[in-house]
Amino acid sequence: MLFDRFAPFSIWARIRPDAITVWDDKRVQRALSWYYLVMKDEAPAKFMLAKIVEVEDNPKKLAIEQLEELNKTKKKELIKLVEQARRRKYTLDDFKKDSRNMPKFSLLHVDAELARRYASPCRLCERRCMVRREKQIGACRVGIKTYVHSWFHHLGEEAPLVPSGTIFYGGCNFTCVFCQNYDISQVYPRSGEVVDARRLAEIQKQLRMHGARNINHVGGDPTPNLHTIVESLIYLDTNVPQLWNSNMYMSMESMNILVDIIDIWLPDFKYGNDKCAWRLSSAKNYVKVVTRNLSIAVKYGDMIIRHLVLPGHLECCTKPVLRWIAENLPRDRVLVNVMEQYRPEHFVLRYPKRWPEITRRLTDREIVDARLYAEKLGLIYDPVS
Ligand code: SF4
Repeated sequence: MLFDRFAPFSIWARIRPDAITVWDDKRVQRALSWYYLVMKDEAPAKFMLAKIVEVEDNPKKLAIEQLEELNKTKKKELIKLVEQARRRKYTLDDFKKDSRNMPKFSLLHVDAELARRYASPCRLCERRCMVRREKQIGACRVGIKTYVHSWFHHLGEEAPLVPSGTIFYGGCNFTCVFCQNYDISQVYPRSGEVVDARRLAEIQKQLRMHGARNINHVGGDPTPNLHTIVESLIYLDTNVPQLWNSNMYMSMESMNILVDIIDIWLPDFKYGNDKCAWRLSSAKNYVKVVTRNLSIAVKYGDMIIRHLVLPGHLECCTKPVLRWIAENLPRDRVLVNVMEQYRPEHFVLRYPKRWPEITRRLTDREIVDARLYAEKLGLIYDPVS
């Protein structure tokens, strides 16, 4: 290590002292307990554990039904290992000893092979384009190649995540008219560095070696790149929490893979109804898909949910979103960040008459109302904002 990445007097801590003090908060400790263990190298990340869940046959030679069956059965072994690690009965040192006899094929190989097949014809997300991405691009505007536009230590994320080893991928399965990353998600998604799995593993290693608390897969959206991301973990030999920073519009096929490798979820839960989701992001069936995926994800990892308050969308989006979280997810396991920094961008600036209500920033009244509503529901937002 070049320096102690968690030392309170490191350069990160001077810029974001709350990244240290946030861990004094008992609610944060409880909600992010698994992430904390992995972040501190006191437990192996899930992808590391998936490497030691042995499978006998070469996954590349199996039919997709066999792979799916293997994923189902071997997942149970992984869950047991994670539970042991959570109770500190299986540490990173234990893992290092066991990994001297690493199996030739593992659950991680099964997941990588499944992701590769789901990527073409593509059903990685619920758009289910079913395009052969070697030859065609999908609605996410990227083919089978993975483009990384930038990667760096992000100091602007929620306090428990900083410094966050963030990797920005090109392409997105949504078309948000107010997207703030529209250059890489919608306009020039294929202009970044083309990375294969080995290069992506190297990037992750560099980020961790230089102090990242996690690897933050984001975009655009990371989902169209799932096949490269999972394969990269086969080559990654450095322990680091894997963070999924996404619109959560993944297919069930992708979810079955992700729950094996993601330690902490950072979902973006935007809309409280399908009409707004369609009008502003061209996403169909939004509420059903996203709430399904959130309900699954929370069983398999820690979670900080982001909700960006949109001007004029308090009653139709903010309140239903917060209400759903309060009624359906365990309060002590989930942190919620109610975000107030909306600013009009992209298509909203070019065609303001089409989306008039979001051509402005939030009013003070809207900010206060959103906060009070979250508070009334008992949702935690202050420690992470
Ligand atoms: S990731 Fe989604 S949007 Fe992209 S090609 Fe696959 S199914 Fe289509």
